[in-house]
This record gives sequence, C-alpha cells and structure tokens, in this order.
Amino acid sequence: MSDGRSLSITIGSTLLTLTQGDITQQEVDAIVNAANSSLLGGGGVDGAIHRAGGPSILEECKAIREKQGGCPTGEAVVTSAGKLKARFVIHTVGPVWKGGSANEENLLRNAYRNSLEKAREKSATTLAFPSISTGVYGFPIERASKIAFATVREYIRTYPHLHEVRFVVFSRHDFEVYSPLFRDGAGPP
Ligand code: ADP
Repeated sequence: MSDGRSLSITIGSTLLTLTQGDITQQEVDAIVNAANSSLLGGGGVDGAIHRAGGPSILEECKAIREKQGGCPTGEAVVTSAGKLKARFVIHTVGPVWKGGSANEENLLRNAYRNSLEKAREKSATTLAFPSISTGVYGFPIERASKIAFATVREYIRTYPHLHEVRFVVFSRHDFEVYSPLFRDGAGPP
C-alpha cells in the first residue's frame, strides 16, 4: 500500500507502517521518545513530545530519575502521555554516534528492543517510533534505519501481539531512506 507519504507491509499479524509526520500527533497506544539519559527533556523529538504532552510527562520523568538516576543508553522507561492522544510515552536513550566503533549498533538495537519490551509490558498493541539517534546524536540514518527495521521485524516474529508498529519520520529525505525497507523488507533478514 502506498499513497506517497505512507508505506506499509504486513509481517505475520503485525502491520509495519512508514509515515512522514509528527510523532506527537499519532493515534497509537504508545509513542517512543528519543530521550537523553537525564530524562529531563531536550531538543528535537524530545522537546516536541514534552511541549505537546504538557508538564506531567516531565514530572513523571523526574520521579523515575529520583528512583533510578536517569536512563542508561539502550534502556527505556515509561510514563503516561499527558495531553497526547497516546496513552504512554516510552522514553529510550539511543547512542551518540562516535564513528561506529563504540558499540553504537548494539546500543541502538537495545533501544528499539527495550522499547518494544516496555510496550509489551503495558499491553500496548500500537506503537510509533521516531528515528532514534539520527538527529542531534548523529547516527547515520542509512545504517540506523536498517537496524530499526530488522530489530522490530525480529521482535514481532517472536511476539506477535502488536497490531501495528509505525515508523514516523520527520523529513522527506528520511522517508526516502526508510522506503526501500518497506518495499523489500518482507523478505529474508
Ligand atoms: P537524537 O538525539 O536521538 O538524535 P533527535 O530528536 O535529535 O534525537 O532526532 C531524532 C529524529 O527525530 C530526527 O530525524 C528528527 O528529525 C526527528 N524529529 C524531530 N521532531 C520530530 C517530531 N515531532 N516527530 C517525529 N520525528 C521528529
């Protein structure tokens, strides 16, 4: 299926969708935030989520921070979603790109996987991801998109409870980078 700004494929019983847009506007059970380990908010998608969702998200992040001292890279924590249409925000911390030899690929994989785990714990069946680490954190999007797609595909083959996983990219360029995965992605890994 394709309307130019949206592509989707079905893997098992899960719909994988690529859409260009604003993640704060998605009508899904949970959206993922590309947070930083302080959990205190930042720019990019993090700033957009806190602005659109209102102050309760930051209050919950602060409470988590007091309890566990932030969120390590590759891990994820969950808050409610304030004024957003989603029910939950899953805050995950992607790696800062340091040239590729600092375990960045594994850490990015962990960020996706742990976000999927949190969604499962919350019984969320529809989930939207931004392109984690490919903004300020500088992870090359060609590599990051493949990791994102492969990690989600592997996960839903094991846990088929998700109805939809949506990749929400902000720019036309990012949409073009992700697109081939949604055209060829149903094939072997
Ligand atoms: P990171 O620090 O993990 O790199 P950024 O927020 O800087 O995170 O960027 C991650 C991606 O999110 C970038 O591709 C950026 O363009 C995109 N982005 C920024 N705002 C939004 C938004 N409102 N909805 C979806 N994606 C967004």
